[in-house]
This record gives sequence, C-alpha cells and structure tokens, in this order.
Amino acid sequence: MLLIALAWPACSSLAGPYREYAIRFDGGAPPALDQNPSDAELIDAVARVMSGRLGLPFPATIKAYVYVNEATLVDGLIKIAGETSDEAWDRGRFAVGVATRGGVFLRGDYLARMHVVGRAALFAHELTHVSQRQLREGGRRQPAQWILEGHAEWVKFQVLDRLGYRSYTESRDDIVRCVVGAATPIKLFPDLQTLASNTRWTQSMNQLGSAATYGQAFLAVDGLVERYGSARLVEFLGRFALAADPREHWGKVFPISYRQFVDESRVRLEGLSRATPSSAGAGSPAASPPSSCR
Ligand SMILES: [Zn+2]
Repeated sequence: MLLIALAWPACSSLAGPYREYAIRFDGGAPPALDQNPSDAELIDAVARVMSGRLGLPFPATIKAYVYVNEATLVDGLIKIAGETSDEAWDRGRFAVGVATRGGVFLRGDYLARMHVVGRAALFAHELTHVSQRQLREGGRRQPAQWILEGHAEWVKFQVLDRLGYRSYTESRDDIVRCVVGAATPIKLFPDLQTLASNTRWTQSMNQLGSAATYGQAFLAVDGLVERYGSARLVEFLGRFALAADPREHWGKVFPISYRQFVDESRVRLEGLSRATPSSAGAGSPAASPPSSCR
C-alpha cells in the first residue's frame, strides 16, 4: 500500500502549487508500481528506495510542490522556500525541478509530458539534493559542486536500477557514450577542480553541455564509489555539518589525496575515448551518442 498524504490545496491560484504531496520515506520496501504510476506514487517509491536501500537521510517531513509553469515555480521558491527573488530566478529559470530544504519544487507542465523513467530520474536526482542538505544540516560550507551533482546522478541511476526501470550498468554505459560522443571533445572538458565552484559549474554546463559537467561528475563519483564504497561518500557529505575545516574532510574519509583522485579521474576520463572501439580509428566519425544524452 502506498501511504501518501495527498493534499489538494484550495483551487490553484496563480501564486500557489497546483499539487502538493507530503512524501513518506518509511514503510519498508517500495510497492510494485504499475506501468504509469502517478507522480505521487512514483516519488514515494523513489524516496523509499533512497531511504531504505541506499541509506540516505531525509528531514522528518518534506513535500513535493508541483507548479504549472516557470513563473509560479519561482514564486513558490520565494513564498514557500523563503528564497530571495534573485536566488529563486537563478535556480528556477529553465529548471524542471529544484531542491530546497523543505522539499522539491517541480514543473508539472514538463512532468505531464515525461515518460515514467524520466520522472523517476528527476525525482531521484532532486531528492538526493534534499538528502545532501540534510546530511550537512547545521554546517556552513558545502562539498564541491561536482561531488553534489555526481552523487545525485549516481543515486538516480541506482534508483532506476532498483525500481526495475534500467540497470545501473546500462545507464553507466549510456553516459560513457554521451561523454565520448559529446560535441565538446573530452580534452576540452573543464577539470573537476574547476567544477568545484557552483558558478563555474553553471557556466560550464551552459557553454559545454551536460556531458562535460553531469557526465564527467557522475563518472568521477562512480569511480569513487567503486573504490571506496557509497557509505564513505555519505560519511564525507555528512562531515560538512561539522565545524571542522572543510579542507580536512576529504582526508579524514578517503585514503587518497583529493588532488590525486582528481588527477586519476582525468586520466580515466581521457582514456575513455581510446577504450571505446566505436570511436577509435583516425578519421572515423565518433559514435553517435545515444538519444538519451541531454
Ligand atoms: Zn542537481
């Protein structure tokens, strides 16, 4: 049984969400979903996988707010999430979903046109950001942007696997193809050090696209988890709640220096184009990236 408290606020005014769900994280294994679950059923199932199977913490209550368009979503970020107008426009413009401390703010007009796998992916990515905020609750600093985004992508693909939508290996292979076949050659990707800053991340995303940013960050986090396990990554994210110098966190958790990890990730990334047979060979056209590349 799904246990979703579904509130229907008074008829949607221009300023409010047209739907609002309180998400439940407890209650054991996620229920079997039918072929086209509602947003409420799906987000609840995603949250349960994240909480129960992946061990990610969440605030006691969080909500999903669904809006009809960009202007109302931005308005919700200001009125419900308490963001300033500038912050809200920065985060809400062009966004399909935005995570805040109290929940996820979603564009219902986009959701209505999305396939179930795309919706599950979006919910998992944004809910990861909610959990990351919970992990560092009380702290003043935050981890590098590439770690936050790479982790959100890693969780997303784990959730799709565990809900039976797409195997993790298949998702990972897709990302490798997106990265290798990207319009921006890997050599021109910014390094992870550059992608540590939120501003540089956004600039890189806008100028170079998602393979250079989300794709690269996911593969780095995938490598980190493969070597040291996901529990260490969660421990690292949680250390930002402490008053300690944030530069010490990495070394307390991972038995490799940050610099060395960043350098090794770069080598691994640049090795992908050589390791992918379909793009090898001088003069042969790069394999066309799968249509799922953003
Ligand atoms: Zn994100």
